[in-house]
Amino acid sequence: MGVARSRSLVVLLVIASLCIPIVGVVLISWNLALHSYQRQLTYLSESMLSRTQATLDEAKAALDEIKRYASIPCSEEHITEMRRLVANNRSIVGMGYRGENGLLKCSDYGPPKVAMPRSEAIPYVMDNGLHMIPRLATQMAGSEPRVLLYVGSNEVLVDPRNLTDIVSTEDEQLAVTLDQAGLVIEKNHPDRELVRLLQRKPAPGSQDSHVYSVAKEGPWTAIAMSPIRVVHTEFRKLLFVMLPIALVISVLFIFLGLGVIRKRASIEGRLATAVKEHAFTVHYQPIIDIRTGACVGAEALARWPQPNGEYIAPDIFIPQAEKNALIFSITDQVIETVVRDMAEALRAEKDLHISINVSAADMSSGRVLSVLRRLLAEASIPSEQIWLEATERGLMDVESARQSIQRAHTAGHSVALDDFGTGYSSLTYLEALPIDMIKIDRSFVATIGQVTAKSPVLPHIIDMAKTLNLRCIAEGVETEVQLEYLTGKGIEFAQGWYFSKPLPAAEFIAFLAQPRADARRAY
Ligand code: C2E
Ligand code: CA
Ligand code: CA
Repeated sequence: MGVARSRSLVVLLVIASLCIPIVGVVLISWNLALHSYQRQLTYLSESMLSRTQATLDEAKAALDEIKRYASIPCSEEHITEMRRLVANNRSIVGMGYRGENGLLKCSDYGPPKVAMPRSEAIPYVMDNGLHMIPRLATQMAGSEPRVLLYVGSNEVLVDPRNLTDIVSTEDEQLAVTLDQAGLVIEKNHPDRELVRLLQRKPAPGSQDSHVYSVAKEGPWTAIAMSPIRVVHTEFRKLLFVMLPIALVISVLFIFLGLGVIRKRASIEGRLATAVKEHAFTVHYQPIIDIRTGACVGAEALARWPQPNGEYIAPDIFIPQAEKNALIFSITDQVIETVVRDMAEALRAEKDLHISINVSAADMSSGRVLSVLRRLLAEASIPSEQIWLEATERGLMDVESARQSIQRAHTAGHSVALDDFGTGYSSLTYLEALPIDMIKIDRSFVATIGQVTAKSPVLPHIIDMAKTLNLRCIAEGVETEVQLEYLTGKGIEFAQGWYFSKPLPAAEFIAFLAQPRADARRAY
């Protein structure tokens, strides 16, 4: 990874680590603030509705009660009762009785001094027979309109402020409306336009200027709204608490991300250096003919030695190298090393072979063949003694895979399909490829003698190889039981810790030289 790329990755990481938690916290805080305020407004509007209902109930009860005294209308007794009801009911501010002609005959003040006809406004008639004039102007100058309620001759005047008589702050603007009549009462000057809108579309929400909530029951709509700045205040308070949390998360992200980037950069950077310095070595894992016990060759496995004497496993650096062109140099170095280490042994023993792993890119480009041709010729090693191991991944496209294998055959190499059984190979796919043998993946060998989901697969794999007339190499043989099983199944070759771990060149040559009188028992 280039320094520039690594730097831009760090910049990206820092930006993302900062932005994501901060934007998240801002959004969450805003929504929390908005919704908590909306809940408060919903509570207020619902309270107004129940105040409205209670007020109407009170008026109705008073009207029901006064009816009993109307047998002698406007008698002393009747008027006293009206006064008592006005005094005892908080929302009722007046009562009256009208004659047939609609003129007021008496009120809780007694008989009127002037003729007082009934309002000409069209009343709203409720289900329970109550007639209502929601905004009745009173004679008293500067006083609020009243709500007039009547049944027959009896009427009550209600102060509509009772409908909004709930605990609220100055920022909470309230309104109660009636479907046919519109606004009945408001408090703290709510935006009239918004009130009209919400009466038509009663749903909680917010807009640029206001946050609001609505409660509706029958013809009544109670609306509570506040300027949006109250949400801003709440939002800032929340942000004050949440932002530090977001920052902690950001810092955590940055640290974790930096760790990953540094590790990747260091592996990538060091890998490039290692390639440049030809730092790789090769270990050889013996491949045994399990029918005779003879060692017929070895698989060459790349090793990356570390200053502390350990090795980085190829499982880590090979996939990394495959992401860029480094893999080509590694393959070349493995081939060079094999030729250097094994030329003598291979020339001395014509039946011996070395298996080399080739990656997908090596396989499809065919370049590995020209490298081999040159180096093998220089060392006078017959190409038949070098086998190639390709994974299914390297042979994905059947047609070009067929050609690659064909080219390898023409050059004299045998080709094995590595990690067999872990991919998607079907019988038809395998039939189309002129491969010489398969390497049964060690995960299948590990199931021998065990009951696992994978264990029923192994016999099929072996059958498949037999049907296709392919030789088999079993990988990862660790136990006598596994060896017995594989021998029983007629498998020719095996490799694994049971015979030997991968060995440095000199040790492998020594391994070859060991006399094995009774081959099977030698391990
Ligand atoms: P692979 O080709 O399947 O190689 C066999 C792996 O199994 C080796 O791991 C070997 O050390 C390990 N092994 C052998 N016997 C046993 C056993 O009895 N038990 C267990 N548990 N493991 C055993 P290694 O050397 O770490 O190689 C890992 C993989 O890296 C190889 O898998 C191969 O795909 C890749 N690789 C190694 N060298 C090269 C190379 O030169 N070029 C390419 N392209 N890939 C390579
Ligand atoms: Ca292999
Ligand atoms: Ca393998």
